[in-house]
Amino acid sequence: MSSFPDHGRSVGTVYLVGAGPGDPELLTIKARRLLGEADAIVHDYLVPAEIVALARPGAELVFVGKKGGGFCCPQRDIEGTLIRLAREGKTVVRLKGGDPFVFGRGGEEAEALVGAGIAFEVVPGVTSALAAAAFAGVPLTHRAHSSAVVFLTGHEDPAKPDSAICWEDYGRLGATLCIYMGMKNLETITRRLQAGGLAPGTPALVVQSATTSEHRQLLSTVGEIALRSEREGFGAPAMVVIGEVARLAEKLAWFEAARTAALTS
Ligand code: SAH
Repeated sequence: MSSFPDHGRSVGTVYLVGAGPGDPELLTIKARRLLGEADAIVHDYLVPAEIVALARPGAELVFVGKKGGGFCCPQRDIEGTLIRLAREGKTVVRLKGGDPFVFGRGGEEAEALVGAGIAFEVVPGVTSALAAAAFAGVPLTHRAHSSAVVFLTGHEDPAKPDSAICWEDYGRLGATLCIYMGMKNLETITRRLQAGGLAPGTPALVVQSATTSEHRQLLSTVGEIALRSEREGFGAPAMVVIGEVARLAEKLAWFEAARTAALTS
């Protein structure tokens, strides 16, 4: 017997929906439809107000996260909120930045919903590694430069001896590395990648607030990116892309070029 209950009973369904990287035009058609239909939207700080504004008038809006290391709604409370709203018979959209199953704790929420016997669906979103690279002019794979892409989190403390990520190993991989939440630990991360064998001159790119009106990017090298991005005031939310492909941003940075042209015209 399936542990998944039927949809459409008196208990509502929860949709774990990816909102994409920021630009509302990068929402999927399904995400947009669900936003317009849901009784309740549970969203966090990475989702811009313009996207939350697509909720139907009268929908209950529940904000469950704040930027930075400060207050953040405990994960168990978020799960409790989803379960409570669904048990009230509501159709719930749990709206997350990027994709809900990429560093978004969507997996934990889905597990909690299964545990509570609540039906759910997952609506993928454009994850920020893809969006940041695309808007910065970096093809993550390229026949001449890279045949593999890795998504990593830089959030956990890389100085800890029990760090789950062996950055030295990734320094030897020859793949394009996309580092989420990497700004705070960028100095240690890039040092460890070099200790693993990554050449200091390897191109490295930081893209902040990709796809939005705040989009900024900085192309440097693994040896210098931490210092330069700090000097130039780069901070979260930002994606770090490391690998030979990053160099193509010099030639293909179409979004920045269009914005600069618009500002100077
Ligand atoms: N689920 C999200 C990731 C959440 S973790 C996704 O799939 O994209 C939060 C991290 O995502 C940020 O610290 C940053 O590294 C990255 N991020 C989110 N939005 C971004 C944006 N517009 N530009 C650059 N990086 C972004």
